[in-house]
Amino acid sequence: MADFAKDNAASTPRTIYLKDYQPPAYLVDEVSLRFELEPATTRVNSRLVVRRNPGAETSDGALQLHGQNLELAAIQVNGAALDEADYQLDDEQLLLDGLDDGAVIEIETLIHPDTNTALEGLYISSDMFCTQCEAEGFRRITYFPDRPDVMTRFTTTLVADKARYPVLLSNGNPVDQGEMEDGRHWVTWQDPFPKPSYLFALVAGNLYCQEDSFRTRSGRNVTLKIFVEPENRNKCDHALASLKQAMKWDEDTYGREYDLDIFMIVAVNDFNMGAMENKGLNIFNASCVLASPETATDADYYNIQSIIGHEYFHNWSGNRVTCRDWFQLSLKEGFTVFRDQEFSSDLNSRPVKRISDVNVLRSFQFAQDASPMAHAVRPDAYMEISNFYTVTVYNKGAEVVRMICNLVGREGFRKGCDLYFDRHDGQAVTTDDFVAAMEAANGIDLTQFRRWYSQAGTPVIGASGQYDAQTRTYRLTLTQQCPPTPGQEHKEAFHIPVELALLDSSGQPLALQLEGESSPAGNHRMLELKQTSQQFEFTGIREQPVLSLLSGFSAPVKLQMERSDEELAFLFAHDPDSFNRWNAGQTLASQTLLQLIEQVQQNATLSLQDNFVQAFRKTLQHADLDHALITQALSLPSESYLADQCASVDVDAIHTAREFMRKQLAEQLYDSFLDVYRNPGPDKPYRFDAASMGRRSLRNLCLSYLLESGSDEARELCLSQLQHTHNMTDTLAALSSLSQHNWPERVEQLNRFYDRWKPDPQVIDKWFSIQAGSRLPDTLQQVESLLTHPAFRITNPNKVRALVGKFCMGNQVRFHSSDGEGYRFLTDRVLELDSINPQMAARLVSALSRWKRFDSERQGLMQNELQRILAVTGLSRDVFEIVSKSLD
Ligand code: ZN
Repeated sequence: MADFAKDNAASTPRTIYLKDYQPPAYLVDEVSLRFELEPATTRVNSRLVVRRNPGAETSDGALQLHGQNLELAAIQVNGAALDEADYQLDDEQLLLDGLDDGAVIEIETLIHPDTNTALEGLYISSDMFCTQCEAEGFRRITYFPDRPDVMTRFTTTLVADKARYPVLLSNGNPVDQGEMEDGRHWVTWQDPFPKPSYLFALVAGNLYCQEDSFRTRSGRNVTLKIFVEPENRNKCDHALASLKQAMKWDEDTYGREYDLDIFMIVAVNDFNMGAMENKGLNIFNASCVLASPETATDADYYNIQSIIGHEYFHNWSGNRVTCRDWFQLSLKEGFTVFRDQEFSSDLNSRPVKRISDVNVLRSFQFAQDASPMAHAVRPDAYMEISNFYTVTVYNKGAEVVRMICNLVGREGFRKGCDLYFDRHDGQAVTTDDFVAAMEAANGIDLTQFRRWYSQAGTPVIGASGQYDAQTRTYRLTLTQQCPPTPGQEHKEAFHIPVELALLDSSGQPLALQLEGESSPAGNHRMLELKQTSQQFEFTGIREQPVLSLLSGFSAPVKLQMERSDEELAFLFAHDPDSFNRWNAGQTLASQTLLQLIEQVQQNATLSLQDNFVQAFRKTLQHADLDHALITQALSLPSESYLADQCASVDVDAIHTAREFMRKQLAEQLYDSFLDVYRNPGPDKPYRFDAASMGRRSLRNLCLSYLLESGSDEARELCLSQLQHTHNMTDTLAALSSLSQHNWPERVEQLNRFYDRWKPDPQVIDKWFSIQAGSRLPDTLQQVESLLTHPAFRITNPNKVRALVGKFCMGNQVRFHSSDGEGYRFLTDRVLELDSINPQMAARLVSALSRWKRFDSERQGLMQNELQRILAVTGLSRDVFEIVSKSLD
């Protein structure tokens, strides 16, 4: 039996609704915890001081302590032991009645870290104890009001064997320590800031510590420590440098200083997510913190910088001001993603960052909006909150914050943030409170704008322009409409910031004057679209302009607009807004690919128009364009993005068309690719900065196109790159391009790579991933045999993501093979994983949730697999929710 409560009517997990929110009956001012850490059985003693919540709706509610998979060993109130008649206990909670203010509750529980494969609560990773409490993991440690609106001061004592666990860490500051006669030692930590239980953390292990310090702008000295397993001691520099950059940036940009005297980061190998912002003690997936040039790619370096920033920024957006309930998750996540995006933009290239963020949004979030799992940025119901750590809550949530910033401007946004932090420091609040602070600081009304939080789905904007040469006016009509999503048939109009410019025939933006304005002001505008259809009239326009719409992707919408290939090619060559310039190229490529897809489906001979090739050639040879921008411009839209553009997904036709285009470009632009590849030469030593990353990305893009031509010369270049480079970026780029080709060198190079890197789990993840992402026809067999490879472990989330996740979510053509073998493979893994790690199982199974988008044969196959899962008894709440909603 699964360990959750069921409705009495059916055996389905219960749904939690936002509308049912009630403040807690009791608050906990103080908690002291004592852990006697043993892998098999850890004893947890807790002592809580409670009082009635003055904000509760009634004054006689019981104290509700959540608890899951706990053994209750003892419980006392005010020093007197209770017996079973004094409390109510079930699988999920312990209820205590009639406690006076100041009542002291002492509880002893026993837990079992070494069998905790779900990686929630207290568990073991590589002989180290660690915790993960967000969202509801603390209840697997001890009985406690495990909800974010209960904020408590924590004092934590850790006791463990000194030789095996010399380092003992928790939140806040170490205040006391000592040794025991039996070889154990202990440390007491005190966190002065009241916090919700989801921000609690502890770590115990044999860890190397790299130390540094940061001087805050008010002159306080903060000690920075990164703890890693000893073999990773040479991989901490980048994370520490990034941390200092983040601390400085938050002071400069938001005026926010760090608040404790010590900030710690710990790297662990087994972790469900990227990282966790526990107060003063961030815990990181090792893959998101460790880096050296030999083992980490540019993408890794970039990610690490942004995730270090993200978790650090949570100290204000999440910890000092936290969420009232889990429906408000985007309050901290959307805002913090926005903050980390801006951090990366300021430190690297802004347009490059914007383009890659929009790529994520379009490929994954738009797809989620169009799926049975579609939900609002602030969902109104869930079965399992772990299923709502989604691209919608995170990335669309960040877009919603960005739109507020677009509407009120940078300064207004900063004023709004200052007011928000000021009003709500130390509180647990809602997304409404955030918006209200923005309104109050800027004297504006965001009532209609709030629909972005409550309505799911991707709005579609229609645009058409008419130029009247006689009156020199340009009239733009904008419309909006949003398709239905589960539970939301009809949508109200959104309040949408639409930035635009009008370009003259040389690509220069024209001065803009809207009808009714006395003079032109600026050459781009943030229009506010609030109705389903709205007209904007620009006067004094001297020639037929080309419309550059939604500059910088000012709102997370789809654009529907008739555009000729010529117009797109013009924008691709001239648009002064880098994002729109890239976007024009992508739109041109998509339009061309959609035609090719039709040709494939009709068995017609495929051909690629010359002007398309010429547009690409021009970009490739563009001397003064940022290398990274050229790379992004020449990267074709992903197969999954193309799938999204099709009425019904034909995976094989999409694959064939895209491969055809790549090969055509490779052959027709061969000399240019070769030129650019040879031109800058490899750079060494490795440096992580925007310019060097851009250079490497462009060379490696050229290499992958060159290989598509199949020439011996290209193959030689690839092998020589593999032999001579000493940075992982270039090595991996060469190896992954090579692995797309069925050449004898493929296996040899993969084996060589494995032998070279087998002691390093992060590098081996890349090796799994390359193989799982191969387009070669026998990839599924390869993946299946890799499941039994000694380096693979189903209990390790990084391995599962690298092999199974990559195959099912990042290899559309092989996963969706028409025989249904990919689906069967996924189902087997989901069922295997569900009893090990339900969060991981649920994330994988969502690869089946968009079955309605495919042909009837595949629909049937996918439905069958979903049914096969649903038929299993004792499914986790996580998997049950995704599968049942997918079949609805
Ligand atoms: Zn976060």
